[in-house]
Amino acid sequence: MQLIWNTKHKAASLAKNFRKQLETRMYGSCAVLLYHRVADYLHDPQQLCVRPENFEKQINFLRENYTILSIEEWKYNILNHKKFKNGSIVITFDDGYEDNILNAVPILERLNVEALFYICTGNIGTPDEFWWDELERMLLLNPNVRSEIKIKVKGITLASTTDGRQRELIYSDLLPLLRSSAPEERKASLRELSEQVGKTEPRVSHRSMNWNQVKQLTASKIATLGAHTHNHPSLAVLSHDEQRSEIEQSVQLLEANTGKFIDHFSYPFGTKLDYTSKTMKLCKELGLNLVAANYPYITPSRTDPFQVPRYLVRDWDLWQFTSEVKRFFN
Ligand SMILES: [Zn+2]
Repeated sequence: MQLIWNTKHKAASLAKNFRKQLETRMYGSCAVLLYHRVADYLHDPQQLCVRPENFEKQINFLRENYTILSIEEWKYNILNHKKFKNGSIVITFDDGYEDNILNAVPILERLNVEALFYICTGNIGTPDEFWWDELERMLLLNPNVRSEIKIKVKGITLASTTDGRQRELIYSDLLPLLRSSAPEERKASLRELSEQVGKTEPRVSHRSMNWNQVKQLTASKIATLGAHTHNHPSLAVLSHDEQRSEIEQSVQLLEANTGKFIDHFSYPFGTKLDYTSKTMKLCKELGLNLVAANYPYITPSRTDPFQVPRYLVRDWDLWQFTSEVKRFFN
């Protein structure tokens, strides 16, 4: 049984590599990198932070060894099926954390490297954390959990004692359940949890940008803005109208506050389970031109502009980053 699985797996992997090589020869290759945060932060269960020193080394390495494209050039090549130079790179950021403007932009400006920032608008100008950070804060970093936790989400009851290991388990069980909840449902669950574990203050280090910072970003010569919904839901679980409202609201708020035309968008979470063909159609109807997803593959110039693949970047030192980027193209 294992042997059959191994053989099948090997054949699928060979077929994928063959396709990749063929597409690269015909349409060139571009690796779109996905960052979230540039910050020093010790507790990072979602592995979203890249430390500033690693980020600077990564970008410097890319400048010296690859071709970092401007966002305009990237869009032009995809929309016009113009062959990419092999080894092209595009830098993108998801979510709109404040550290993007505080830590990433100064490095990118100094190195004169462009990036695309997809901003989730719901928390802009508020002290609130994104829901996954809030969950981490309430369960993993809260020394004052004072009672047993019992919470029902999507018909599933989760219970835990205040023991640290138990809290970690409930945290990992809650993550996928909240991810597949609609925003209002998710907010209600977090409120219920907060009532049980005691109120904790949102962390300044986990804020989104405020509108002045978004404007500052707009004014930077290295930055292009894109939208990323209002409440960061997994769009696939929402109704057609809810999806439209999430996408439209973030685009409209960004346009109204920056005066820029927004035609870039990225799907929250972005795996193929987080959007559907209906979501892609909606993006097209709403006037978006280029939409990024989150599954690892190179981007040939003949790619679907409504689900551009991206490679997640972690807090890798230069040695690991070098081999990861090499792997992206092979
Ligand atoms: Zn996101």
